Amino acid sequence: YSGLDFEPMLQDKLSALSVQDIMQAPVLIKQDTSVQDAVTALFMYDVGTLYISNDQDELVGVLSRKDLLRSTMMGNHSDAPVAVIMTRMPNIFVTYPDVPVLKAAKSISRHQIDSLPVLASRDSKTVVGKISKTVLVNLLIELTDKEQNA
Ligand code: ADP
Repeated sequence: YSGLDFEPMLQDKLSALSVQDIMQAPVLIKQDTSVQDAVTALFMYDVGTLYISNDQDELVGVLSRKDLLRSTMMGNHSDAPVAVIMTRMPNIFVTYPDVPVLKAAKSISRHQIDSLPVLASRDSKTVVGKISKTVLVNLLIELTDKEQNA
């Protein structure tokens, strides 16, 4: 047994997986939610990124920890709506359920972000999931552990 033996198997398992196989539930808040309530949501749901939707439940923005920190440092009112500080569509990188996991991982790496919202389809703005660095690290561990136990 050597490390070299399992690398191709890991690659095979990875290529067989799509975003829908590993995506997590997204945390969505409305665009009129206050910055203060967004911070509470971060803690309550224990996530690093919040996705923002409009009244039609379509993705309109992304809000990260640093976005919230910056807003606080700049002395913005915490009762201002998140719409004022979020990163907006169409400047949001997204993925879809049928995309290979490795492709989504490359997008996260290339754009230096923590997560990608998963939209239902190419002609939809409905968020059905989230792919984060955390879920990718967990997948790596899970796949290697299984191989060692095989
Ligand atoms: P943090 O800001 O906490 O380090 P990120 O690295 O994910 O978290 O976010 C960096 C910046 O990129 C933030 O301004 C955030 O709004 C934005 N961002 C996060 N995810 C995406 C995405 N999928 N597409 C475009 N911008 C994003």
